[in-house]
Amino acid sequence: MSARTVPRVRWPASARHNAFYELLAAFDGPGCALCRITRRSGARLLAEISFESVNDREVRDRLRRSRGLCSWHAWDLLDDTRDPYGAAFIYHDVLHAILVEADAGADITRQESPCLICDAVAAAERRNLGILLEDVEAAELRQHLVASGGLCRSHFRSALLTGGRSVVNVLESQREVLRGASRPGWAPTGALPDPRTASVRAGGARHRRPADDVPAEPLVLLLAGPRPMHWTAGDLNFAATRCVSCRHGAEAAYEVIDRVAPGAPLCSSHLWVMLDRRGPQVARALVEPTAAALSSTIEDLGEQVVRAKTLRLGPLAIRLPAAEQALRAIQQRVGSVADCVACKEFREVARAERAGPRCRLHLAGADRARIDESVHWWRELDAEVAEYLRKSDYRFRDEVRGPEQSAPWRVVQALSGDRGLPPERAYTAGRPHKEDSSNT
Ligand SMILES: [Zn+2]
Ligand SMILES: [Zn+2]
Ligand SMILES: [Zn+2]
Ligand SMILES: [Zn+2]
Repeated sequence: MSARTVPRVRWPASARHNAFYELLAAFDGPGCALCRITRRSGARLLAEISFESVNDREVRDRLRRSRGLCSWHAWDLLDDTRDPYGAAFIYHDVLHAILVEADAGADITRQESPCLICDAVAAAERRNLGILLEDVEAAELRQHLVASGGLCRSHFRSALLTGGRSVVNVLESQREVLRGASRPGWAPTGALPDPRTASVRAGGARHRRPADDVPAEPLVLLLAGPRPMHWTAGDLNFAATRCVSCRHGAEAAYEVIDRVAPGAPLCSSHLWVMLDRRGPQVARALVEPTAAALSSTIEDLGEQVVRAKTLRLGPLAIRLPAAEQALRAIQQRVGSVADCVACKEFREVARAERAGPRCRLHLAGADRARIDESVHWWRELDAEVAEYLRKSDYRFRDEVRGPEQSAPWRVVQALSGDRGLPPERAYTAGRPHKEDSSNT
């Protein structure tokens, strides 16, 4: 097998400089900096869409083709950007397009393009991973990496598989972090929020800290990355979804989480749910075997990682056959992971045959009766969203508000799935990763 050339990203000096310091700043909070920086670039884009581009024809066309946003970013728009009007506006447009297609007898479950925020955020993720793995100032990065508590499992795996000049640095930092985090005395600074009341906000409350700045049980933080969003177990019943798959799936997943065995594989998203439902003491006991397994994998990997390193020849990075082989060995070691037990249960229960309407995501492959029930639900919603938008107009501000006020949340449930839905796609940036698992 011949050597493979990997194109190398060339940066203008100033852009590289800015990106480097942006990455450095992301190490300030608790947990994986790559998660934080990708999440925040997603939040910035959502804010831009929310404040500026919602009326932009090109953006609306794009949103129609992707059927709105992915579940993750749609809920970020409601929970984090806190723009129910923007969500109603976007989804009214998307819903209208879908209903026109339904009337024409077209396949309403197809989706032409992925979530536009996911697309943009994946690019930011690759760029920052590249900086972390290549930058000459890696010594400085390494200090920050250790101080922030290392990379989450998914980004650690991405780093190992991508390779690069500093990859050994990353491996050693992670080893150091794991040794520190496994010590019983290691505790987060600052009080842990009570999961039952963490999301309750009184009028005039102080500006809320971003979810990824909230301290947490260090081992969960290390494995899962920073808290992805503010929702906790207590939020989940708000505007309960009518999708029978989302509802029964979530219930089944939580049942699994409530009796999960120590070391059982859980994705990042479900690790956080587990922490919120079972508290930090139990959570720590449940993830300790996973952290220990990750530690021993790291101890074993050192030599392979050195061999997998790429060679630099001017603007090209070359990976020799021996390096390719080492990379495959690493892949087998860190890439073949068991599926999250909660996600697995969710998917099985969500697929089961059962009467009742479904969200767009759970309608794929459904028969005519299910599609009709769902379209009926969506038509009712169409009217409610229209009414919500009408009442948002200042001319009608004195009208009594009704049940249409929760329409933005319900239309997101119908077209992008319920809050906290296990991610199904390969677009992983800044949110829990589908292929993620505790059994590394
Ligand atoms: Zn991460
Ligand atoms: Zn997305
Ligand atoms: Zn659903
Ligand atoms: Zn999961």
